[in-house]
Amino acid sequence: MIIAIIQARMGSKRLPGKSLMKIEGKPLIWHVINRVKQSRYVEQVVLATSERPENKPLMEEAEKAGAKAFAGDENDVLDRFYKAAKKYGAKDSDILIRITGDCPLIDPEIIDLNIKTFMDKKLDYVHSGLSYPDGIGDCEVFTFKSLEEAWNKTTGSDREHVTPYFWKNPNIFKSATIENKEDLSEYIFSVDEKSQFEAVKRIYTGLGRKEKKKEGNKREDEEKKKKEWTFNMREIIDFVKKNPEVHDMTKNIDRSCPTQHVRDQNKKKYAKSLALLKKAKELTPCASQTYSKSYKYYCEGAAPVFLDHGKGSHVWDIDGNEFIDFVGALGAITVGYCNEEVDKAVSEQLKKGISFSQSTALEVELAEKLVKIIPSAEMVRFVKNGSDATSAAVRLARAYTKREVIATSGYHGYQDWYVGSTENDRGVPACCKELTKKFEYNNIGSLKKVFDDNLGKVACVIMEAVQENGPNKGYLEAVKELTHKNGALLIFDEVVTGFRIHLAGAQGLFKVTPDLTALGKGMGNGLSLSAVVGKKEILKLIEEGAFISTTHGGEALSIAGSIATINILERKGSFEHVWNLGKKLRTGLQKLINKKGLGKSVELKGLDVHFSPSFKSTGKLTNYDLLSVFQQTMIENGILVLTSSTLCLAHTDEDINKYLAAADKALELVKKAVENDRVDDILTGGKFSPIFKRNKDR
Ligand code: PMP
Repeated sequence: MIIAIIQARMGSKRLPGKSLMKIEGKPLIWHVINRVKQSRYVEQVVLATSERPENKPLMEEAEKAGAKAFAGDENDVLDRFYKAAKKYGAKDSDILIRITGDCPLIDPEIIDLNIKTFMDKKLDYVHSGLSYPDGIGDCEVFTFKSLEEAWNKTTGSDREHVTPYFWKNPNIFKSATIENKEDLSEYIFSVDEKSQFEAVKRIYTGLGRKEKKKEGNKREDEEKKKKEWTFNMREIIDFVKKNPEVHDMTKNIDRSCPTQHVRDQNKKKYAKSLALLKKAKELTPCASQTYSKSYKYYCEGAAPVFLDHGKGSHVWDIDGNEFIDFVGALGAITVGYCNEEVDKAVSEQLKKGISFSQSTALEVELAEKLVKIIPSAEMVRFVKNGSDATSAAVRLARAYTKREVIATSGYHGYQDWYVGSTENDRGVPACCKELTKKFEYNNIGSLKKVFDDNLGKVACVIMEAVQENGPNKGYLEAVKELTHKNGALLIFDEVVTGFRIHLAGAQGLFKVTPDLTALGKGMGNGLSLSAVVGKKEILKLIEEGAFISTTHGGEALSIAGSIATINILERKGSFEHVWNLGKKLRTGLQKLINKKGLGKSVELKGLDVHFSPSFKSTGKLTNYDLLSVFQQTMIENGILVLTSSTLCLAHTDEDINKYLAAADKALELVKKAVENDRVDDILTGGKFSPIFKRNKDR
């Protein structure tokens, strides 16, 4: 049996009693039921409402429209839905369709497409994607058996909804999303506001009348009328295109605040994230553990805050919104979320134990692998974060040279010796700050000055080998020569570049081998692991008083996962794949920038495999204003971006196409912002406001 269950209540906050408001003489709920009944597959329609007395008339109207009615728990909607299905005879393999009562324009053809796909592909869960207009395609399909499992296992606030258990467990439920060929996500036909209700009335009158005129038949023929009211998605879209004022009404546009309707939509879309953010702000500084994972780095209110799970290149937030992720856990994800091989290695190790009283054989295996792969590696010390690895390298360089001054270029983490040289230097002793000297990338004269000003005192040069658009020809070689000539050590901070741009990192790509290397981020596909690697005679100092030791350094899950990650990355074609995607992305983005004449406002910086759109301040607007417009629009279109485009092995050509389609819209708005010198009419959330600012930002 195939049962459609419609959830509806009288108690809408914004438009109380909307379910009984009349469209062409019939209550709204009657129309929802009428349209669902036009499905070729649906055999039974059930209204699932709450037990509150105000819903009684709603139940009566549903029955008049030919549906069964059920009243259940007000808040535990999952329980209400389950009991409604059970009461009307649903058995294990019976198919259930979830519909919401605020969609009087729901399209039976789309319901049928969902049901057919569900049956043909033998799926456990299918739903219409965001490319369908809101309120026209909204339906989800699953079996009663799956619903029962969700009913048994769902806990807490997730029970306020019916399907979180399905979208949070893609490993258990074979799922699919049906997308429309054309992206119609800008259209809204669900009814939350008075103006949207009026718009739906206009559509019914408009499309219904046309039919009547054609037939020239004034007779009230109930059966014919029912059919007349099932105009499909195409007809509805054509109608609002011809009647733009109706389109505005559907979006509930308040002319005094052009973005208000989107703000309202976002409150719904990110309801759980925003509620949890309130709590998190009280409990954890920046409501996150890493600055750049904080809500401050995303347009607050117009972006997710908390993520729930990931698979491949996609992530889902706690509200169930899906995104293609181009942030990659700040560069930690190299082969993709929930990669089966990495997860298998981790879960097998988990069965044996996480951390032990002595070393494991895995440490030796991974050290041997790194020595084979990384040109500068003769010995390895494992730590946990990038900051641990860069700080260990600096400690070793100071111990080896018996000098104290550090020359640095790039970002290296949160320890005193580095953050003391930035504007975020609170809590760092002055004596420590004095020892760190900055030099400019791709400017050998700038490094020479540091050496000349600190003759015989510089212990090491620590640098990100790739900054801006990468090293000028001969630059890294010149840095190495100058450093060694001055008796200092060269450290490459490959926390970002390691396992991302080349199997052997920047030193492999540019063929310049440093004395020491800091690795981190991508080496464990998200597991917490980093390492300092380098010459044996330097690493050996760890045995002679250069103290580098942590409880969790040899923790076995991350090491097992890292071995599996590197095994995958070592395969032929891995780096070719990410470079090819990167080239396609960069070329496509550059074309869009050129086409829109935005060359002066945004520049692409970095290597093809890992680059950032860098926005420039213009007129009254800051670089962050423009970045916010870009980021907000990308996120609105299902693409999670921060500043740089981080690719992993799981990204596909299709992901790149989707990024570019979203960027087309995002850059159009950037253009509008630049032309009008304002963003207040575009931004629907807060602005990107980093804690850590780079020199040229304002
Ligand atoms: N070096 C570089 C180049 C980095 O980008 C980072 C982190 N973004 C670090 C070091 C510090 O790594 P972690 O945050 O893991 O301590």
